[in-house]
Amino acid sequence: MKYDVVNRRIWFKGEILNVNDAKVNVLAPTSQFGLNVFEGIPCYWNDDEKQLYAFRLDEHYERLIRSAKLIQFDLKYTKEDFKKALIDVVKANEYDENLSVRQTLFVDGFGSWGSEGPVEMFVAPIPRGRTSAEYNKKGLNCCITSWRRISDENLSPRIKCGANYINSRVGQREALRNGYDTCIFLNEVGKVAEGPGSCFFMVKGNTVITPRLTDSVLESITRDTIIKLATEELRLKFEERTIDRTEVYMADEAFLCGSSMEVTPIFTVDRYQIGTGEQGEVTKKIHMKYLECVQGRLESRKNWITPVY
Ligand code: PMP
Repeated sequence: MKYDVVNRRIWFKGEILNVNDAKVNVLAPTSQFGLNVFEGIPCYWNDDEKQLYAFRLDEHYERLIRSAKLIQFDLKYTKEDFKKALIDVVKANEYDENLSVRQTLFVDGFGSWGSEGPVEMFVAPIPRGRTSAEYNKKGLNCCITSWRRISDENLSPRIKCGANYINSRVGQREALRNGYDTCIFLNEVGKVAEGPGSCFFMVKGNTVITPRLTDSVLESITRDTIIKLATEELRLKFEERTIDRTEVYMADEAFLCGSSMEVTPIFTVDRYQIGTGEQGEVTKKIHMKYLECVQGRLESRKNWITPVY
């Protein structure tokens, strides 16, 4: 049976439940301190094949395990457990549409921010109704936020944990307050880092450029995907390097990308028009190739997709 969104099924502590019955106590460290690590895993429905493809599952689970290790969670699950839970819960909902699957390891119980466990998991498929201003737009008017991205010296952006999103939030709220769609963060030394829930790329001439993984960014799966598609499929020139703020204003094209926002062009930054102020040619090529790939239509990248059904 198919369920409406408010009654969808969720994998919760080893059982498949109605989402309304998946409850965590208010004192659990995950509720109080954001003590959880998670993934947002994109799944694309291919209507020709009547198949749902989960994108780069291995890489998502490897990052989840890295996050859990860095934050010192007492982990009882394996990659195979993660995969089985995702497949079971999507099947239980009989979804035949694009999804973002939230797969979260959280500290339950009555401990504190220092607790290592008990670590539990939930897996919640979310039909891709876009939720925030950052994801709704065809193109973005961005600001450089006055807040800095967290750094490896205090709270590593490499860890995909709930608490890190409070840093994202302050930048995003500032952007919305001031009439922008979203923001770009600089890092602690004033160089370009990333968006609040996305990675930053710019194009100069025919060269695609993104900050290094040591410039205070998440080790994004989409970032890696785009680098490989741009260099190996589209044969574009690519540089991974530190980016100055003023280079952004002078870019020919720029975009933010991530599992949720895919590839979304940036039209302006701090009211400076980027290139023509519309989606640029290189951005468009990359976006099209990305969609081909995630939907399982790119023969050379079939190893990145896992059929759910
Ligand atoms: N940076 C941040 C801060 C994010 O939250 C996200 C979304 N997970 C990304 C980058 C993009 O990462 P991914 O491509 O793995 O979704």
